[in-house]
Amino acid sequence: MRGIQKRCRQCGRCCQAGGPALHLADLGLVRSGRITWGQLVTLRRGEPAHNPVSGRVQPVAVELVKLAGKGGSWQCSFLSPAGTCQIYSCRPEACRQLKCWDTREILALVEQDTLDRQAILASDSPLLPLIAEHQMLCPCDELAVLLDGTQAAGEAQRQRFARQAQADLDFRTRVIAETGLSLAEELFVFGRPFFQLLQQLGVGVATSPAGIVLHWPLPPNRS
Ligand code: SF4
Ligand code: SF4
Repeated sequence: MRGIQKRCRQCGRCCQAGGPALHLADLGLVRSGRITWGQLVTLRRGEPAHNPVSGRVQPVAVELVKLAGKGGSWQCSFLSPAGTCQIYSCRPEACRQLKCWDTREILALVEQDTLDRQAILASDSPLLPLIAEHQMLCPCDELAVLLDGTQAAGEAQRQRFARQAQADLDFRTRVIAETGLSLAEELFVFGRPFFQLLQQLGVGVATSPAGIVLHWPLPPNRS
């Protein structure tokens, strides 16, 4: 009979599920370059994401900066092929607190004392005004409506989403040309592209000579 688990077996299963959001205690890891911008991804306030406390997908209440995934999954990019943590001795706060056999401490950390881009970037960083401009162009506040299904978005909202997806893409193209940010760094500085967020919520995305076109699934046949 298996005993009751009391310590970490370093099986890496939690790391496969995804890297953690960073907390204030982790600021030194980023400032020192131990974790680089290219190894981070920002979830902007309002982006739908799995909330471990509620167990549901819901808008994040505060901006989160997470360790990026790899290979198109959320699996932590610091997990080695052998299943070990490549930064174990200086792993982030949430990794230290995580005890899969007793989740009280880790759940108490969710969306508390989290790091955001403003805390990470220098106060005079030229990226801060660009982040504010980007936020004006395509905020995530309205995405929550799509959690009730794509049919929940009205026509005006659909048009707004299409405009925001295009504005996001145009903005990134311009700013990346101006700043030389890499694709990986862009995911930290501006978060995930707006069209990808729409796709994850069930909206079809295509391109045309005129720009991004959104396809809204037809309502289920009720006949
Ligand atoms: S906390 Fe649990 S899931 Fe994570 S590595 Fe340790 S034993 Fe595995
Ligand atoms: S930093 Fe290390 S311990 Fe934390 S999720 Fe990544 S691989 Fe796991």
